[in-house]
Order: sequence, then structure tokens, then C-alpha cells
Amino acid sequence: MTHKVTLIEGDGIGPEVVRSTRKIIEATGVDIKWDLCEAGAEVFKRGLKSGVPEETIESIKRNRVVLKGPLETPVGFGEKSANVTLRKLFETYANIRPVKEFPRVDTPFKGRGIDMVIIRENVEDLYAGIEYMRTPGVAECLKLISRKGCEKIVRFAFEFARSEGRKTLHCATKANIMKFSEGLLKKTFEEIAPEYPDIEPHHIIIDNCAHQMVRFPEKFETIVTTNMNGDIISDLGSGLVGGLGLAPGANIGNGIAIFEAVHGSAPKYAGKNVINPTAVLFSGVMMLRHLGEFEAAMTIEQATLATLEEGILPKDIAGEGPSTSTTDFTDAIIANFGKTSSAWKARDYKKIKVPEVDKRPDIVRSKTAECIGVDVYIDSPLFSEELGQKLRALTANTDFDLKMISNRGVQTFPSAGTMPDVVDLWRARFTAKNGASTDRSKVRNLLECIEKDHKWTDTKLLELIDGEEGFTRAQGEN
Ligand code: NAD
Repeated sequence: MTHKVTLIEGDGIGPEVVRSTRKIIEATGVDIKWDLCEAGAEVFKRGLKSGVPEETIESIKRNRVVLKGPLETPVGFGEKSANVTLRKLFETYANIRPVKEFPRVDTPFKGRGIDMVIIRENVEDLYAGIEYMRTPGVAECLKLISRKGCEKIVRFAFEFARSEGRKTLHCATKANIMKFSEGLLKKTFEEIAPEYPDIEPHHIIIDNCAHQMVRFPEKFETIVTTNMNGDIISDLGSGLVGGLGLAPGANIGNGIAIFEAVHGSAPKYAGKNVINPTAVLFSGVMMLRHLGEFEAAMTIEQATLATLEEGILPKDIAGEGPSTSTTDFTDAIIANFGKTSSAWKARDYKKIKVPEVDKRPDIVRSKTAECIGVDVYIDSPLFSEELGQKLRALTANTDFDLKMISNRGVQTFPSAGTMPDVVDLWRARFTAKNGASTDRSKVRNLLECIEKDHKWTDTKLLELIDGEEGFTRAQGEN
């Protein structure tokens, strides 16, 4: 059967590694009709702000399978990442990054039998890219995590572990600090785990996870985590087994899959024929399994390992020894088709059952939601004590009491006598007088009163959701 695949060669070293991968895949005889499309640097240069042209989007919509090289993103300025745009446009919510020890690759962890897969939530968290300059000197990035997003990634991770016969799944979060956002992943994981009795669930705090990955990497089989954590620990993972040249990846959503290496466009190596194509090649192997071409996937995987075992090594993993060019490495792999590796435990792969999740926006509903106050953000050059006294006087005749003011999450008014540094973005927490409920019209009155003397910039209602506080307390707040 002919498979149709959208092919994006990418920037920097992208074309070299993608062409190598294409040549090796074609040599297996699998019938693929490649639809060559553009995204990234050249597209930005033409002035298209998304970096992803309409024709590329249409091709992906038609083919629903993409093999892509890395795309360049300017750091700290300029347009949004075209990579992230692609992942988000097609809701590829699961990022799979296998970390497996390769033969002949010298690392401090050689011989430990590392074989883990990191499953990173790919579209939510800080990477939603919702940012504001809250005052000229204070930047904010929203960390949005939903029950729906957690449910999708957790179910996917369990299904993935099952599809590869993996017996344990660690859920890595920072739920000890971010109890609502990171905590939602932990809670969802604990609720769903009993549905997969064949997989042993563990929760681990992300910083400890990073520590344990370095000390005992062989103990991890599968890790599921939030976007930012996953970004970091998957690069850590690739470092354990020999670097980015060996780290493949896939972005999976419902009915759509984008296969790409973890690494970027490594511009300083572009066009030099020295780069290691294995990361993109093994992303291509994942793609072949996704397409049901298990035999071709195994042929490539085994031939690559046999090539490494023969000591034919690209520069990044050759150490002080002789190295081979990208093109010679490619040809050596093809010449080794049919050979097998003794070092690599082949798995009995099955197709992943991508879970269906309710599409409604409000999959979680509360029975009651009671508004008991409001946080008002104020842009002010005043110090805390003065601001607090002024706000108290100004709002004395409203339905609210000023409970406290915090600055960067720490209570500064009333002061506990400690000395937190402060910036010009204040959070004034008002609660309804006498512990009563309040409503939006009273909040509007409060804001009108405050804006007589101060510049408020944002509000957040304080709600009891099914009787539980739907907000956290500031450090030092009782
Ligand atoms: P990078 O991954 O491009 O390169 C970092 C270093 O890793 C390189 O200097 C090189 O030493 C090594 N390396 C990477 N790939 C290799 C390979 N295949 N073989 C051998 N060695 C390899 O990271 P960077 O320099 O931080 O980023 C460069 C650009 O790539 C940036 O514009 C960044 O935004 C982009 N990027 C894109 C993606 C993506 O497309 N998914 C991912 C990461 C970074």
C-alpha cells in the first residue's frame, strides 16, 4: 500500500538528516509518497509570521502523518516557534521521547541497560505561550493545565506503556509547590491508574526524578509529565545515552502524528556532512510503526545498531576515534540491512490505542461555586504599607475588607516584619465582609472605588468550588 507523508526538511542540518532518513526508508521498499512542504526560517524571512504556510497545513490535514527536520526559532525575540505552532495547530498533545542505550556509544552510563520512554504533555502548561508585560518591569506567563489535557496524556501514557509491554509508569510533577496546576496531573494519574492494573503506577517529584534519572536511570521504564518538565528531562535523557544525535521523538494527537528528532537545527554544522542522522532516522522508525510497517522499522533499527557495533560512528559519538560522514553512515546502514544487533532488546510492538476523550469544553462541572472575594492586581510605585493603608481607607465603605496584599506571591501587608523584595505589581486580596458571599456587581463597585486613586490591571474572583477554595494562599497568609 502507498502511504502519503508530509515531509518538512527543516532548517540548518535538517535537510541533511531528513534526506538520509528518506533514503534509508526508501531502501526498505516501503511505498511512501512524500509531499515535500516548507516551514521555518525561509518562511519567516518571506514575512509569514506563523512560519507555517497554508499549503503545509493543507498537506498535513490530508496526509495526517508528518516527518520533519528541525526548525529554527529566534531565542528571546521575534516570531513564535513554528514547531510549537505545528504541534498546537494539530493538537498533538503527546510527545514521545525514547531514551535507549546504543551499542558502541561511550557514556558514563554504558552497560546500565537504559531503556525508558518520556511522554511529555505537549500543548498546555507554560508553552501555551500566553504572556503579558504586567507592568513595564514585570513579565507574566500563564501556566494553564486542564483536567482534559491531563486525562488525555495520562491515558495515552498508560496505553503507550501497554503497547510496548512496559510494566511501570512514573508520573513526574511539581505538585508539592504548584498544587492546583501540577497537582491536577498527579490527581488525574492517581484516578486513572486503577484502570490499568497491568502497569505499576508511581508518582515522583520532578526534581527528584531528574536526580534519580542520573543515579539510577535503569529503573525508569515510562515517565509521563507536564510540558516544561518534560522538555527538560527528555534532554537530560538524551544526554544519558549519548546526546541529541541519538534522540528521536514523535508528536501524537487524535488521528495525526508528527515525527521529529529532539534536537534543533544545529546551524554551525549545517552543510558539513558531519551530523548524526540517527535521531531523525529513529523518528522515521517510529513513523513506520505508526504506519503499521513493523518489518521495515525493525530492519532499519537493527541495521543501524549493527552499523554502530561495527564501529562506524558519526562524529558526535566517535569520541577521539575515527568518524564517518553523514552520507557514508547512511550508505553503511543500507548495506547492513538484514543484519541484527545482539545488544538491543527488540520489543514486541503493538499499535498504540490513542484514547478518545470527551470533546466538550467543560468536562468537569461543579455543583456549587460561591464567590467570597476578589484579588485585584494593582500597578503602583508605592510601598506596601502606604498602599495598604490607602486602599483600606478608600474601600472602607464597600462590601469588602482588604485581607492582605502580596507581592510576587508573598504577603507584604499586613507585614510580618520580614523583608521580601518588591516590584510594582501588587495583589490586593479583598474578602466579602463578615465572611458572606459576594457577586460581580459588588466587585465592579469595588473596582470603581479603587480606580479613583490607583491603576488596577487585572482581577481574579475568589471562589469556593463545591465548598473547596479554588485559589491558593500567599506565602505567609493565614
Ligand atoms: P540544537 O539541538 O540545534 O544543537 C545543540 C548541539 O547539539 C549542537 O551544537 C550539536 O553539538 C548537538 N547536536 C544536535 N543535533 C545533533 C545531531 N543530529 N548530530 C550531532 N550533534 C547534534 O540546539 P540549539 O543550538 O539550542 O538550537 C538551534 C536552533 O534549533 C534554535 O533555533 C532552536 O530554536 C531550534 N530548535 C528546534 C527544535 C525543533 O525543530 N524541534 C528543537 C530544538 C531547537
